[in-house]
Parts: sequence; C-alpha cells; structure tokens
Amino acid sequence: MDRLDSTRMRRWAAGLVAVLLALWGCSTNPATGKPQLALISQQQEVELGRDYDQQIQRLLGVYPDAKLQEYVDRVGQKLAAGSERPDLAWTFRVVDDPVVNAFALPGGHVYVTRGLMTHLTSEAQLAAVLGHEIGHVTARHSVTQMSKARIARIGLIAGSILSPALAGFAARGLDVLFLKYSRDDERQADDLGVRYMYAQGYDPREMPRVFEVLRRVSQVQGRQRIPDWQSTHPSEEERIRTTSAAVARLGNDFSGRVVNREGYLRSLEHVAFGQNPREGYFLGSTFVQPALGVQIRFPDDWKKANARSSVEAVAPKQDAVLVMSLSGEASWRKAAREFFLHEGNVNGETLLTEVNGQPGVVRTFGILNTDAGDLQGVAAFVEHGGHVYQVLGITREQDWTRYQEALTAAVESFRPETDPTLANVQPKRLEIVTLPAAMTLEEFSRQYPSTVDLKTLALINQAEAGTRLAAGDEVKRVVGGELPEGATL
Ligand SMILES: [Zn+2]
Repeated sequence: MDRLDSTRMRRWAAGLVAVLLALWGCSTNPATGKPQLALISQQQEVELGRDYDQQIQRLLGVYPDAKLQEYVDRVGQKLAAGSERPDLAWTFRVVDDPVVNAFALPGGHVYVTRGLMTHLTSEAQLAAVLGHEIGHVTARHSVTQMSKARIARIGLIAGSILSPALAGFAARGLDVLFLKYSRDDERQADDLGVRYMYAQGYDPREMPRVFEVLRRVSQVQGRQRIPDWQSTHPSEEERIRTTSAAVARLGNDFSGRVVNREGYLRSLEHVAFGQNPREGYFLGSTFVQPALGVQIRFPDDWKKANARSSVEAVAPKQDAVLVMSLSGEASWRKAAREFFLHEGNVNGETLLTEVNGQPGVVRTFGILNTDAGDLQGVAAFVEHGGHVYQVLGITREQDWTRYQEALTAAVESFRPETDPTLANVQPKRLEIVTLPAAMTLEEFSRQYPSTVDLKTLALINQAEAGTRLAAGDEVKRVVGGELPEGATL
C-alpha cells in the first residue's frame, strides 16, 4: 500500500488542476512575449488560483513547520520578484507529502513536497526547483493528458457517494494520475528556472544536480509514480545535459555565487522523512489511524489504500468498495439524516444503534438509477473523539447478497484504537550531524546509525557509500519511526 495515499491526493490535486487549466488559455505569454490563445483574464487566473490553493492546502496539508515554510517562501519570493510577473500574489508552500515532487498552479501558487525537500542539499537546489515552477506560471503552461475519468473520481473522495464514484472504482480501480506538461514546456521551465536563480545570485550549477537526484530517485522508486519533476520526458539525463549547457552559456566563473548548503540543511532539522504512520497504517487487514485513535478491519485480500482524507478498500473483482472518511457534519444524527434522506437514496434497515460503544448508527440503504445501475450498501455514522465518521460499503444491487456479509462486518468493525503501542507511532525524522572528523558515508552510517538503509542515506545526501566526507561537513541522518511488528504503510 505504500504511497497510494499521496498518489490519491495527487490525483485530487491534478484533477483540480485539469478543471482549472481546461479554462485557462493565454494572451501574450509573459515569459516569452509571444501571443497565445486566451480564454481567461489574469484576474480570473488569480481568482481561480486562490480557490484551488485553498483546496490543495486542505487536501494535501501544509507541512507544520513555520520556520521551514518561511524559509521556502523567502527564497521563492526573491526569485518571483525577478521574474516577468512580479506582481502576482506568489505563494510558496511545503506540502506534507513524502513523494518527491513540486508543482505550480496558475496565479502564482507554488508547492514543493517535504519529500523533495528532504532529498535536496542546498538553497540553490531549492531555488532551481522553485525557479522551474515559477517558469510554468510565468510562461502560462497548460497541463495536458488529463482524463475526464480522473475528474469524475473527485466525487468519491469528496464524500459525495453517488454513482460515478463506484463506476469509477469498478472500471479503473486504483489507477495513477500524473500532472504532465509537454516536453517543450518542461524545457522552457528549465531555461527560465536557470535564468531566475542566476538573476538572484545563486550558483546555477546546482540545477543539473537536482536532476541527478531525480534520476536516482526514479531508479529507486520507478518513474511511473511521479509527476512533473519526474515526468517521463524529457528524461533526467537529457535535462542534466540541457541545463548544464544553459549553465555553460553563463560563463565559467561562479565564484561568490550562493549555494548555502548549511542554511538549507539546518532548515531540515527534525523534518519528517518518508510516509508518516500517524496518517494511518495497516496491520494485516486492519487499518489503524493513530492521530485520530480509530481502527477498522477490512476484508482480507481486498485492495486497500490510505488516501489521507479517506481510507478505501476495493474487492478483488472491483465490484464492491468500502470507504471510511470524516463527515463534515457536527453530529452523527445530522450526518446520517443528510445521507439517508439524500435524493435517490432508499432508506433500509437499521442494524445497530451504537457502534462498539460509540454513539452512532449502522443502516443499509439503496441508491437507484445511477450510471452503474441500482446500488445497495451499508453505512455507519459514528462519533468518536469529537469527530463524526462515515463508513460506507457499496456494491451493485445484483451483487448485494454476495457482499452483504463482508461489507456489513467491515462497517461494523469501526472502533476506537485503545492499544497505546499502536496509537503512539511516530514518523522518521531528519537529523543534521556536523562531522567531528573526516569519514566515508559508510563509516558515518555506522557511527551515527539511521533507520533507513545505506542506499537511502546515500541518496538523500547526494553521495555514495564510499564518498569521503570532510570534518565539519553537515550530513543528514534519519532517526526514529519504528513501526509495530507486522505494520505496513
Ligand atoms: Zn515542470
């Protein structure tokens, strides 16, 4: 189940972007000065961007570290001020996602994941990433290769459980979505990125190094996962070549240029590394949500995914689905009333009037005349710890007898997590060590043990196991984050 949660959130974000960019043409391209097709004005672009920025902050989550956020914003603002669109209300945020990525929305909203932050080693590399994303905004690039299917799926995650949701699940399962620009757009953003970072005094040689990191991350993780910064084209190798050539055109004296490795690494002290188990993990078929203190048991051999705002399980034949999420309603009664009295919903039978000691209700229901035909399901609305949970199990009417038992058992399994060892898990975190003496990275990993393997340690330090590190160097290590036995993220 690794990474499906952030994949899902990217799908969300990119779905939004797709909707947005479908509306978004251009007039004169601010970065190139060339005319472009225009459908919306700058004012509209700004308003849309602001709306979607709110949604992305809510859905992906802003990483809770005010100093880190300020630092990234400061670097970004400096770069944007030197761009062709200095008057946009630029924002730069670190989103709480372990995947290595960065992206931008029209209107000047730029996001870098904490996953990417933990893989970079200097402020100049951060400037390269932000400069590239600023380039997408200033050049008004549009996102291509978005499918309507993905947009339809937003309905499910948003909690509006109606037909397109199940149809989407049944037809496509847990597929992956990418935010993808054209090859030319990526090249142009790379060129603009080099230009912007150079204009602010950074050492442009750090730009190709970012692509080297991405090349290595791709090798480890498989390139199919990661949008934009690891899109399949241009390849990282090509981008290393083209950005190196762009750097060479700037001359060969980069003395006095800013790299700021130490300041950057210090900003990463204690930043979470990898998937955060506090957002939920699986113990076999049981999903534990430590931050909220709840658990639910899904049927064995169903495909399960933690989408952060919801956790979902799909039957092997993809013809039944279970979804647990937080209801926005203030009480279980209100949530249940809203759901069961929804237009098209057929009220069923009450199975429980409390759920494992928590106030709530479990009822069956039907939904008629959806795109997927008539649906049957079972729903729980339960209060615990100041939150209202909604657990839905849905299948097609003709499959109900086959799934009734499994869906009902799962929905009724929702309960508070009372085992403190399961509830107290913590994420892995970065620690920055100043080396007291010269040593290789391998020696470092023995003297300062990490909770990731040597390969990962080498990757995040942009080094090899045998790389000789000097006394006084700042080096990342990863500490903590041990999981209960048998747990998977
Ligand atoms: Zn890009």
